[in-house]
Amino acid sequence: MTHCLTLAAALALSLGITAPVMAEETDKSAQSADKSSSPASDAINPFFAPSPLPYQFPQFDKIRDADYTPAFEKGMADNRAEIDAIANNEEPATFDNTIVAMERSGALLNRVARVFFGLAGTNTNDTMQAIQADMAPKLSAHNDLILLNGKLFARVESVYNQRDSLGLDPESRRLVERYHTDFVRAGAKLSESDKTRLKAINAEMASLATEFSQNLLKETNASAVIVDDRSKLTGLTDDAIGAASEAAKSRELEGKYVIPLKNTSGQPPLASLQDRALRERIMQASLTRGSKGSEWDNRGIVASMAKLRAERAALLGYPNHAAYVLEDETAGTVEAVNKLLSQLAPPAVANARAEGADIQKMIDREGGDFQLSAADWAYYTEKVRKEKFDLDAEELRPYFEMNNVLQNGVFFAANKLYGLTFKERKDLPVYLPDIKVFEVFEENGDPLALFIVDYYARSNKRGGAWMNAYVQQSELDGTRPVVGNHLNIPKPADGEPTLMTYDEVNTAFHEFGHALHGMFSNVKYPRFSGTTVPRDFVEYPSQVNEMWVAWPEVLQNYAKHYKTGEPIPKSLLDKVIASEKFNQGFATTEYLGAALLDQAWHQITAAQAPDADGVLAFEAAALKKAGIDYAPVPPRYRTTYFSHIMGGYSAGYYAYIWSEVLDAGSVKWFKENGGLTRKNGDHFRKTLLSRGGSEDAITLYRNFSGGEPDVQPLLERRGLTGAKQ
Ligand SMILES: [Zn+2]
Repeated sequence: MTHCLTLAAALALSLGITAPVMAEETDKSAQSADKSSSPASDAINPFFAPSPLPYQFPQFDKIRDADYTPAFEKGMADNRAEIDAIANNEEPATFDNTIVAMERSGALLNRVARVFFGLAGTNTNDTMQAIQADMAPKLSAHNDLILLNGKLFARVESVYNQRDSLGLDPESRRLVERYHTDFVRAGAKLSESDKTRLKAINAEMASLATEFSQNLLKETNASAVIVDDRSKLTGLTDDAIGAASEAAKSRELEGKYVIPLKNTSGQPPLASLQDRALRERIMQASLTRGSKGSEWDNRGIVASMAKLRAERAALLGYPNHAAYVLEDETAGTVEAVNKLLSQLAPPAVANARAEGADIQKMIDREGGDFQLSAADWAYYTEKVRKEKFDLDAEELRPYFEMNNVLQNGVFFAANKLYGLTFKERKDLPVYLPDIKVFEVFEENGDPLALFIVDYYARSNKRGGAWMNAYVQQSELDGTRPVVGNHLNIPKPADGEPTLMTYDEVNTAFHEFGHALHGMFSNVKYPRFSGTTVPRDFVEYPSQVNEMWVAWPEVLQNYAKHYKTGEPIPKSLLDKVIASEKFNQGFATTEYLGAALLDQAWHQITAAQAPDADGVLAFEAAALKKAGIDYAPVPPRYRTTYFSHIMGGYSAGYYAYIWSEVLDAGSVKWFKENGGLTRKNGDHFRKTLLSRGGSEDAITLYRNFSGGEPDVQPLLERRGLTGAKQ
């Protein structure tokens, strides 16, 4: 399970179109200093008209930082004028003059936003960061201006009420419903006084969320663990000890060592530190963040946020915040999410307990006279892993040379499944020299899309991996897709080959799954294009594409030693595959702990929300009730440092595993139907990958698989079926 997000989702956040995604941490200290930000008034802004390049490929060679702000400003102004014209039209509202007109509006804003947010993620600078900070609230206000426009909503509602008698095709009818839903969910139907209260709640929640993240940052920094004596650090590498020494210097603690904390409950040094007392100190520092009574305590904020979300949900007509959020997701209801989580929790905990028992045996064997605690888990699990699998990840890399993986692995699988071929286009401008662009062709030679490959890490690229649609497919606009895959593979020295890790290979296939979802899009309206689907659905096609990484026919075609051309030894590959199920009880349990906490906080009424003093008791009771209160495996995030649920993933942290249920079911389908065949590929494409959000997501899954989502294949994959419960 690769936890990435598509940039389309991040873009939607900036435009406020759909549910927001997990926010990135940005450098707020960035100041505009780049001389290229001074406007050059004689040049034509490259965003003002559609790009003249093939597929409207962005004019990366002509775009300067100074072009963004004028393009955003003009884009918003043009869009306001378009929206006003639609809202004030004296003709009666029709599908064309209202819904389609809105769908056509905002072309300039969309052009600049797609490129800007794409490059802000992958090749940013101080100027772009300043523009990003400046534009975020403006774009949000712009969005409110549309969704809370009473005249506009009256027209949307008028079309909505007539939708059965307008002779609309299914996608057009769904578009009407989608627009209506967007407006209603934003509060368009509320009375003026309720709208006023809603705005006040929104404003207060925005402040609380900001306060939460600022507190968390300060508390996390202040919770870094200080070590006086180097001998206590035994087990860490020299590089890690050097970094701890440097961290101490930067805090004016010369001669000491500082271990900073990461945001999760688990902390990387715990896997190697031999000193048990120090491990305990680090774990405690981590687990108590936000709840130890400091000036940055987050308990009061969490309690207030839970109350406000529940109040807003009630105002909008929902029993709780989770019901409000989930209604617009594939899951649909609180009950569906609860059912999935409660199916997974018992076997996951049972497996974690079995893994814990293995660890306890090792502790006992070594003469350790103590019970396994959360602080010990990572340290002993690494020992067990080495003992069981004898696997050195470095042995794999010579078989995974980057271009070979891309062309003879990723592209090869797409050719076998979908008949696609790829031809590099060196004539199109790129934003950095090591970016490649491929034109993608159908089996019959018809052009389909452009695919940007941007695999290398750099200091101005955000972490992780993602897909972005620089141009979205839409019949209405006559556009064809331009999509990019962005990874973070370390660039080797000049002349050296790029040898990928197994995880990186997996990520390349995963992101290409998102790319296929974008490139195969065959919808009429931009609102439904490609990856514009619910958050708990978007990771599903990409996870499915990971199945081809170790598929024998694919693997044999690309996993060859970069020097000798020898295929990867089977024994080596078997070790990799066998070790994938290792420690899954832990991984699933810590993930589910957080997902269940998220639901518990958001399935309550305002009256049920605890006050600040009751936050930890609420958390403990929720974990106990869910049967996931196994102390050696704390939730991946505890409430007071769970940034996802204070931001855009509230009631939505379950989405990763929900997508994986669909993924595992689909992998099973492929295997049962002959695997890597053109017939299977075409079926997946026709029923699902080409449909974007133009139909209900679960309907798409049914159309593809012929069945209902079922948790069993996921349990098997995660090795959760054999556990004693
Ligand atoms: Zn993904």
